[in-house]
Amino acid sequence: MPLPDGEAMMRKTIRTLLAASLLPLAACGAEHSTVHNTPPTPPPSSAVATTEAIQRQVDANELGDVPVLMYHRITEKPTSVYDRTPEDLRAELERLASEKYVPVTAAAYVTGMIDIPAGTHPVVLTFDDGDPTQFALTPQGEPAPRTAVAIMRDVATRYPEFRPVATFYVNGNPFGDPGGTRTLPWLRGHGMEIGNHTLTHANLRQAGSAGAQREISRGDQAIRQGAVGADPVTISLPFGIHPSDPALALSGGSDGVRYHYRGVFLVGANPAPSPYSPRFDPLRIPRIRSQASTGKEAQFGSTAWLDKLAAAPANRFTSDGVPNRMADPGK
Ligand SMILES: [Zn+2]
Repeated sequence: MPLPDGEAMMRKTIRTLLAASLLPLAACGAEHSTVHNTPPTPPPSSAVATTEAIQRQVDANELGDVPVLMYHRITEKPTSVYDRTPEDLRAELERLASEKYVPVTAAAYVTGMIDIPAGTHPVVLTFDDGDPTQFALTPQGEPAPRTAVAIMRDVATRYPEFRPVATFYVNGNPFGDPGGTRTLPWLRGHGMEIGNHTLTHANLRQAGSAGAQREISRGDQAIRQGAVGADPVTISLPFGIHPSDPALALSGGSDGVRYHYRGVFLVGANPAPSPYSPRFDPLRIPRIRSQASTGKEAQFGSTAWLDKLAAAPANRFTSDGVPNRMADPGK
């Protein structure tokens, strides 16, 4: 649906401002890793009065924490703590929907473009390794039943505010699809983010500086070739391991081709700060492993953390519904 002219223009302006304010971030090294997203510019004063009323009503807090959930295989027969069954995934997504979480992509989170209704909370759903249990297409071109994408879309039909969007961190030839030429364009065309997870799932510390940059750069190129027009914005580190020079995860190059990311995602083990928080570090964004309330290290898993966020709602990011204004309860 087209946006009203005024709103479209405002969003465009904000995007431009954010892009300008963040340009040094993409070009910098570790010493600048504490540069933060600039809060959006204020709207006209009449809008402020209305917005502040909404903010009070919904206890908006856009400096609160954001859960970034991490999934791997979605399988009937889990064999590791990283696996979840289709029923586990459905139950977790339904819990998120009923607790007023709205999925946004990792790219939207790191750039501060969190455009969700007032009173709702952003959640980032991330899927690593391009496993075919996350996404596959039927011969008719529909998401295969019981894949993560099919489950996500099904949950979204039952909960109108829940958006079926996620970030897929892929290696070369994802989802059992040579070159990703069938799957990646579908994902991109349906609002999903495709993020880099290196070409061959390399341990970037062991790869050395040149090797790490080659792995990241070639993974980046593979995404661009599989989904023409894609421009990867974020990366998740295989095994959660940075290159020896951590800044090379954000920015570097190989064979004459450069890459720049806005966020580097880790493997564990707690909610991520608001992108407007002084604690936000684009080089080290924590994620939470999807997990039941029991099992190995379950205190760092999603069920435990969603329980904690529900028990202390003041610590959680709650939107004021206005994407171009940051609601700070401390002011
Ligand atoms: Zn991985």
